[in-house]
Amino acid sequence: MLSDALIIDDDCNVQLLGKMLLRQHGYQVVTASSFGELVRQPDLLNVELILLDIGLGEFTSLDILEYLYDLRLNASIILISSCTEETAAHAIAEGEAKGLKMLGFLSKSKLLTGLTTFLGPLKKAPKAPTSDELAKAIREQQLFLAFQPQISLQHGNVIGVEALVRWQDPQRGVLYPDSFIPLAEQNGLMLPLTWYVIELAMKQQAQWQSRGWDLNISINIPAAFIQAEGVLEAFDQLTQEHQAVLSKITLELTETAGVECLGYACYVLKALRQRGCKLALDDFGTGHSSLTQLYRLPFSELKIDRSFVSLIDQDKEALVITASIIDLGTRLGLTVVAEGIETSAQFTLLVEAGCTVGQGYCIAHPLTAGAFNTWLREYSPSAPITHQTSMLSCSKAC
Ligand code: C2E
Ligand code: MG
Ligand code: MG
Repeated sequence: MLSDALIIDDDCNVQLLGKMLLRQHGYQVVTASSFGELVRQPDLLNVELILLDIGLGEFTSLDILEYLYDLRLNASIILISSCTEETAAHAIAEGEAKGLKMLGFLSKSKLLTGLTTFLGPLKKAPKAPTSDELAKAIREQQLFLAFQPQISLQHGNVIGVEALVRWQDPQRGVLYPDSFIPLAEQNGLMLPLTWYVIELAMKQQAQWQSRGWDLNISINIPAAFIQAEGVLEAFDQLTQEHQAVLSKITLELTETAGVECLGYACYVLKALRQRGCKLALDDFGTGHSSLTQLYRLPFSELKIDRSFVSLIDQDKEALVITASIIDLGTRLGLTVVAEGIETSAQFTLLVEAGCTVGQGYCIAHPLTAGAFNTWLREYSPSAPITHQTSMLSCSKAC
């Protein structure tokens, strides 16, 4: 995605050189040779970088800084001039006193070599995605799934995968859920996103089934999904279309706070369960989940939150809590899954505490479908941890 830059200078050589350099760094450049031209620029709000000549006709840099300040631009400003360091330092101090982002001073004679030094650190995080872009990404199928293996901690065999959504943005590269799920939640996009994810998961399942791989797929679904009207009819239609094996699908829920045991959402959950899907309570132990929901709603699985698992090899309390959750889940007849296992010490402690299923970087990162296929072909249940270390170098973690 192009960022906007503005060059304010009456020297056409500087304008030409500046334009060329900024374009090379991915900027879209507008220029103003006079204060009048600057004032006539229709839209400067998105400008992220300004090259400002200190002297511009009868206007000084201070006049222009005043004007830029009034525009409330959020741009970084580089002063360019043939003036002395002292004059430049004064202008920078004035700009800073107004709260403008003054990056520094660059002599015009050093523009060619010096500008890149300034621009390097500016090529920071790209602009955050917008809801329109996300809606378009869902329509244009830029979302894809990464698959994180889940294994039996006791025997090492692969039970299935958790499907984790990714966004392959043409400009920004791969985006992770924390950069777009909140955007989807705030802009009514969770339903189209979830339907798309379910469809991708069902398609993937069909491919694996055709290879004879009977893998379970866990899909994250939001509360909005089970509260939506017509969810069962649409789910049945997708199931039929992709010949999905529902006994090999687990739906993971985090937010169940608003789900009443006699309400519509609970009815939907029970109906999904009757169709053969398993239900997991995700991130158990965090603020979102509650003990009441655990036995009132038809869960078959409980996932211990990563925040506990990550501490069990360092912190006694975390280990006690984790062992208690495992015990509780087991007594309730639930499959207990530990997520975020990163070390062999955590792995061993979980096995000792009776946890049956696990996932985490120490087994495998989330992988693209192709990388997962390779991983699975090479996987050896007898050495679930040591095995993955060598595999990671050849797998495309995602
Ligand atoms: P989650 O469902 O609890 O998924 C587990 C997250 O932990 C994933 O992050 C996974 O990559 C990460 N993880 C797994 N093992 C390790 C480990 O050993 N160490 C560390 N540090 N992290 C590990 P990811 O993919 O960024 O997803 C974050 C959250 O976004 C998910 O948490 C889930 O709540 C949400 N999410 C992901 N995909 C979907 C989706 O398709 N739909 C919905 N509604 N939410 C999704
Ligand atoms: Mg999950
Ligand atoms: Mg989780």
